[in-house]
Amino acid sequence: MPLTELIIDGFKSFAEKTTIKFDTGITGIVGPNGSGKSNITEAIRWVMGETSAKSLRGSNMKDVIFAGSEFRKSASYAQVSLIFDNQQHDLNFEANRVIVTRRILRSGDSEYLINKRNVRQRDIRDLFMDSGVSQNSLAIISQGRVDQILNSRPENRRGLFEEAAGILSFKKQKEQANLQLEQTTDNLIRINDLVKELE
Ligand code: ATP
Repeated sequence: MPLTELIIDGFKSFAEKTTIKFDTGITGIVGPNGSGKSNITEAIRWVMGETSAKSLRGSNMKDVIFAGSEFRKSASYAQVSLIFDNQQHDLNFEANRVIVTRRILRSGDSEYLINKRNVRQRDIRDLFMDSGVSQNSLAIISQGRVDQILNSRPENRRGLFEEAAGILSFKKQKEQANLQLEQTTDNLIRINDLVKELE
């Protein structure tokens, strides 16, 4: 499921609409300190559903919008799109080309889109689940993350392996099935009580 393009517009230091194309093989992004390299990985994590402003080095999600500079006024919105080649259907979506977009306005209103259609944040999470590239997966390793993974508790580390192995969605389905089973057992007990009362 190759990521072929990243389009950043008004996100952090990217005041102008910027397109980064990823060819096959390795793409390296180099630049001086503070030129926006980390902002690129943050843009990717953000569009994939990052909910913590703190982990994007801000205090409020609106902080991701270009704040303005000496020569340029601030942006009124931030928008990031990821374009995936989905010919192998690694993403749980029918189309061969999948465009995932997130947008936030100064008012704080924000929206997600898949192939230009409005979706819920949950749909974005479901889209990436078990693809190995969800926002918490090892596909994106930011500065300091290696230490964080090495120092994390074994059960948290295990979660990363589970996702990479593609069993996370089955685990979630099992949890839901168990919950339904518990509810059905409760209902059965209640029905049995009622039957006894009627006898
Ligand atoms: P380093 O090599 O030091 O890690 P880097 O190339 O990864 O640096 P980033 O940390 O991605 O650089 O970018 C930091 C720059 O982004 C800073 O100059 C900061 O002012 C700018 N920046 C962050 N948020 C915004 C924003 N909302 N509006 C405008 N500029 C922003």
